[in-house]
Amino acid sequence: MRLSELTTLRLGGPAGAVTEARDEAELVEAAQGDDVLLVAGGSNLVVADAGWPGTVARVLTRGVEEREADGRVELTAAAGEEWEPFVARCVAEGLAGVESLSGIPGSLGATPIQNVGAYGQEVAETITAVRALDPATGETAVLAPEDCGFAYRSSAFKRHPGRWVVLAVSFALERRELSGPLGYAELARTLDVKPGEGAPLAEVREAVLGLRRGKGMVLDPDDLDTVSAGSFFTNPILSEAEFDALEARAPARPPRFPEPDGRVKTSAAWLIERAGFHKAHGNPAGIAISSKHTLALTNRGGGTTAELLALAREIAGGVRERFGVTLEPEPTLVGVGWP
Ligand SMILES: Cc1cc2nc3c(=O)[nH]c(=O)nc-3n(C[C@H](O)[C@H](O)[C@H](O)COP(=O)(O)OP(=O)(O)OC[C@H]3O[C@@H](n4cnc5c(N)ncnc54)[C@H](O)[C@@H]3O)c2cc1C
Repeated sequence: MRLSELTTLRLGGPAGAVTEARDEAELVEAAQGDDVLLVAGGSNLVVADAGWPGTVARVLTRGVEEREADGRVELTAAAGEEWEPFVARCVAEGLAGVESLSGIPGSLGATPIQNVGAYGQEVAETITAVRALDPATGETAVLAPEDCGFAYRSSAFKRHPGRWVVLAVSFALERRELSGPLGYAELARTLDVKPGEGAPLAEVREAVLGLRRGKGMVLDPDDLDTVSAGSFFTNPILSEAEFDALEARAPARPPRFPEPDGRVKTSAAWLIERAGFHKAHGNPAGIAISSKHTLALTNRGGGTTAELLALAREIAGGVRERFGVTLEPEPTLVGVGWP
């Protein structure tokens, strides 16, 4: 089997072997083999054209348990559960806390890996525990949120690949009609509420899905703009001095979002566009920037991973030259170097 059959980018060469882990015992066994690459939804993976010589272990475990705890509802789900139906279920049950994360592809077990986030919400806000296997010892541990090292599109799991295999994740959600305060201006505008106000959960979900579809960020077999790994670059987080240096070189004031630690997050899409890379830039029959969203690199059909990385390097190089800012890839790169 080729990895291109298992990744949303439809890229990646052959796997040495493929095993399917359908229950936890199978996942525990598979994860302790040599040269194992875990693949769940394949929506955050860029795999080399040479493929993966070892074993690809597909995370296909299932099951969700729900219980009332301290006035909240705690849902614990197996890593292989799909994220999007889980969100749909929570919204349908009137459980608040993940509604802005509607439409994100992939597995529930991968959400803690890069602290999945969108439209002002991230899973770190609702995860209460991650049950994980240490493949080196075969022991399992229950990690509290503070052990997970959550940060913007990152965690201890992402910083130390291979250290843990996520077996199950617990979320605590509140039974509520309205979402929490909506801090994301575009979403608040769409819902016609003031930033900081809440809105009915189902309306938030529909608004998010609509915004995401408009950007090609909901998987759709008929839309080539969705043949991607989502955003290819994270938004750069700069010190005040670095932001001032950027502002001095920029044609207008770059977007500026304060971080809790005093640093400033800016917009990768804004920098990419102003460095001269526009939507649909690239090969219309191969690798190109999405025609709907500057941050997504897409495979229009005949592309290769080498071409994808070449376009990514061209963009990152252009941004560095124009603004002195370094862009970092968001997906996990397998068998390919960066930069
Ligand atoms: C169209 C599109 C839109 C997207 N939008 C967003 C978005 O809005 N916000 C966002 O944060 N992300 C987004 N993503 C990225 C992606 O959907 C998420 O990161 C998702 O959580 C990845 O899940 P997955 O199951 O597909 O992971 P995979 O791609 O299968 O794996 C990703 C990484 O996690 C590892 N891994 C997988 N399962 C486990 C496990 N059980 N234990 C340990 N390691 C594991 C893999 O080895 C790999 O390194 C988007 C992607 C696409 C294609």
